[in-house]
Amino acid sequence: MISSLSQRPVSSPFVLETQPLPPSSHPLADPLQLQLQDIKKAKQKRGHLFYRAPMAGLNFEATYTDNHDILKIFEAEGVEFLLSSEGKVPVSECSGKVICLFFSANWCRPCRAFTPHLLELYETLRKRGINIEIIFISFDRDEDGFKEHFKSMTWLAVPFDVNLHRRLIDRYRVDRIPSFVPLCSDAITVKEDLIGCIEDYGADAFPFTRKRHEELKAMDERKREEANLEELLGHEGRDFLISGDDRKVPICEVIGKTIGLYFCAYWSPPCCAFTVQLTDAYNELKAAKGDCFEIVLISTDRDLVEFNINKSSMPWLAVPYEDRTRHDLRRIFDIKGIPALVLIGPDGKVISGNGKFMVSSYGAEAFPFTESRIRDLEAALRKEGEALPQQAEDVKHEHVLKLDMAKAYVCDSCRKQGKFWTFSCDVCDYDLHPSCLEKAN
Ligand SMILES: [Zn+2]
Ligand SMILES: [Zn+2]
Repeated sequence: MISSLSQRPVSSPFVLETQPLPPSSHPLADPLQLQLQDIKKAKQKRGHLFYRAPMAGLNFEATYTDNHDILKIFEAEGVEFLLSSEGKVPVSECSGKVICLFFSANWCRPCRAFTPHLLELYETLRKRGINIEIIFISFDRDEDGFKEHFKSMTWLAVPFDVNLHRRLIDRYRVDRIPSFVPLCSDAITVKEDLIGCIEDYGADAFPFTRKRHEELKAMDERKREEANLEELLGHEGRDFLISGDDRKVPICEVIGKTIGLYFCAYWSPPCCAFTVQLTDAYNELKAAKGDCFEIVLISTDRDLVEFNINKSSMPWLAVPYEDRTRHDLRRIFDIKGIPALVLIGPDGKVISGNGKFMVSSYGAEAFPFTESRIRDLEAALRKEGEALPQQAEDVKHEHVLKLDMAKAYVCDSCRKQGKFWTFSCDVCDYDLHPSCLEKAN
């Protein structure tokens, strides 16, 4: 069983919520006009999708434009100032800046979940000296919602005015929220999922162009292929991992070992169950082979408290919770569910993304987790089965027992755990190790 991991943990769920208010009070189209097809599409993407009835006489070919345009639009609309948390700001202060429009609503969960990503991006870019400005354009139905939402933002907002907002929404052809629209001609469009790109890459997504997105994807590919552990597990000057008792362990100390990147969360019962199996295999390998194997926890815990509980219960190392590395590794290795175990060989190359299957099936025996090792184990198992009878009678049991394969069972004779071959009863819940069978004459 695999817990479904909300891969973009902050903005999930991707559920389409229909709008609770009656159409008359809604600044956009009648929600009943939401078309089935659009709903389907919206479920694939994140956020809320709207059906926008085309307005007669407007040229809908016009798409994202440049800064100059928005300033002209504000001028034409009579908008002289924007809002900041401090108060009014003259529109003219935006000129010369990289302007991005943010369409969002307080009632929309994906919007509220996306806003912290944008805050991080905004602060990071400004620290990097980029002259960026974000302007919030509200999809809220009333000023209270607008004000509440704007409290979570550190950038500017167009003052609350349902009709003006609607004209801006039409002008920029926004059909879903959240929408982030950088005013440059080669930006990734809403339909190409700029929101997802920002969630994936944070401030590195800047300047939000297709070229930048391609570069980032190529960088992920290279990191996956080259698997330079210091680059993969480190982050902007952090060159260490941490142990369960908070010791800093230099990343260079794990180079040359077989590494398991363990994606797991404290809140997930399947993770807890697999952690037990992995711990057994880890301890066995440490005892038998010394220091040639290491596991690194890549936590998907919801907060630092859970992370600390999780980490301190494990005998191996962890990537610190604070920086983006955990998030980057999930993306680089395309982790869709937890628990997951990605195995990297002593040469730094990925051996397998399916370590969970290997460890849960064969435990420490699976080491060094290569395909040929798994093939050998499977062949040995087959051979063992071929040497056993298809069915047998045992002096301790009244029914005929059949040869069967089980992932895990408890032997009813010796009471010890067993796995793979068993003689089991179809009538009642009875299992025997093949070695515990006492044949009746
Ligand atoms: Zn037994
Ligand atoms: Zn029976």
